[in-house]
Amino acid sequence: MECKECKQGFEFLEADKRFLRRMKLPAPTLCSDCRRERRLAFWPYGVLQKRKCDFSGEAIISTFPADTHFPVYKREHWFSDKWNPPQMEIDWNRPFFDQLYELQSKTPHFHQLGKNNLNCDYTDDVWECKDLYLCRSMGSCEDLLYSYRILNSKDCMDLTYCYDMEQSYECTYCFKGYHLKFALECRDCSDSWFLYNCRGCRHCFMCWNLRNKEYHILNKPYTKEEYEAKIRSLHLNSRHFLTNLKRHFENHLKNDAIHKSLFVLNSQNCEGNYISNCKNCKDAYFLENSEDSFHLFRSPATKTCWDCCGLYRGEICYEVCQSTDLTACHFANYSVDCSDSQYIDQCFNSHHLFGCVGLKRKKYCILNKPYSETDYHATVKKLVEHLKKTGEYGEFFPYRFAYNGFNATLGAFYYQETEESIRKKGGFFEEATNGGHSGMDANTLSDLSEGITDDLIGKPIQCSVTGRPYSFIQQELDFYRHHKLPLPALYPEERNRLRFGKLLPLHPHKAKCFKCQKEITSYYPEEWGYKKVACEECYLKEIY
Ligand SMILES: [Zn+2]
Ligand SMILES: [Zn+2]
Repeated sequence: MECKECKQGFEFLEADKRFLRRMKLPAPTLCSDCRRERRLAFWPYGVLQKRKCDFSGEAIISTFPADTHFPVYKREHWFSDKWNPPQMEIDWNRPFFDQLYELQSKTPHFHQLGKNNLNCDYTDDVWECKDLYLCRSMGSCEDLLYSYRILNSKDCMDLTYCYDMEQSYECTYCFKGYHLKFALECRDCSDSWFLYNCRGCRHCFMCWNLRNKEYHILNKPYTKEEYEAKIRSLHLNSRHFLTNLKRHFENHLKNDAIHKSLFVLNSQNCEGNYISNCKNCKDAYFLENSEDSFHLFRSPATKTCWDCCGLYRGEICYEVCQSTDLTACHFANYSVDCSDSQYIDQCFNSHHLFGCVGLKRKKYCILNKPYSETDYHATVKKLVEHLKKTGEYGEFFPYRFAYNGFNATLGAFYYQETEESIRKKGGFFEEATNGGHSGMDANTLSDLSEGITDDLIGKPIQCSVTGRPYSFIQQELDFYRHHKLPLPALYPEERNRLRFGKLLPLHPHKAKCFKCQKEITSYYPEEWGYKKVACEECYLKEIY
């Protein structure tokens, strides 16, 4: 089969065929990678900015820019009974997606994803959290700043994809960490700096692949006294010094550290990366506790689902983005607790919907208009046949339905598109807001943590790399002082982008195990220059 988008040949797997036949869905016209990109274009990652609530006129903070093609209501108003979603009649002579787009454009969307939070205005996709600032995709966290995708963590700053962390800074893909700084892929570690792939280590500095060690520097043991004296002699309070250490750390990753070719744990018959406790899942990334599912990305606890990004708890679903608790839903975006529905956008606690937007507790609706149960089934049947003829059925929402410009979505992290190339796919870019280059040059910030003064609060600083302005808040200056850390010279999102970069590769290539020379699947791009990528057996032999 040839992908309509990238024109590359792609394999239509037996399992794909079986699933689609069972769901009475047509064959895909895009390859799985292009399908994933289209879904990720619906995953907002916009700048958290002030805009107006189109219901009450209140100022709200949202990742949606002021010029979205639909009205935006403050979450509380959206979920109230104070407004009714518009309804439309089916027009059999007009493309269905045009009608659905018209409905989507008329229907209010809520301003922020998440609930049960306290003092978390400048966040998105945050659940049961307290005192967060510029964070996204968080659950059960307290006192966190500038972090992305974190669970059960407290008093941390600059974390990306970490669970159960405390008092930590600049960590990526770490679990159960305490007092960790600049750590990557570590578990159960504490009081350490610059660690990679360590387990159960404490008081270690610039180490990799260690298991249950303490007082190590560059993987060599020291006495407690020697270690402490060494650490005291380092200028860890200097930005300049830390920048150099980051470079050393990168060099050790390239030349000395052994890298696990795949992160697949307790799983059977799975293909992909960052998979744990799964069974029979293929083309899967960041997947936990799922089974019999293909082409999934960050969709935990799913069963027999195909082509989903950000689906949490789903069964027999197809082409879903950012949704929770769906059963038998195809082509769903931002919906929760729905079943037996197709083409739904921001629908909640509903069933038997087709082409609906912004509905709560509804059933048997097409283009938001209610039908009797019998009429609904007959009309959907006729509509599906009609849409098969027009070639619309079977496709996810076209790019133009996305909430944000492609450059302000998760898609932009994974897929390099220009404004031109995304326009060809039917998508769009949004103007970079607060991009005015102004403020104090970050390079002129005090190099040492001792130089941090409160008069910096709220002052615009110009990022030393992107030129984008950012500013400091009290909570963060207190954090730097407490940890004796210097001020960062990079815009917060740029810091996240650099950390996140380690987890982005989705395209495997064939490589050789550095030890046994066996052929392996590696996700580390060749340009990273990692010299020691090991097969599972060699990794276990070398490290445990
Ligand atoms: Zn393609
Ligand atoms: Zn090997």
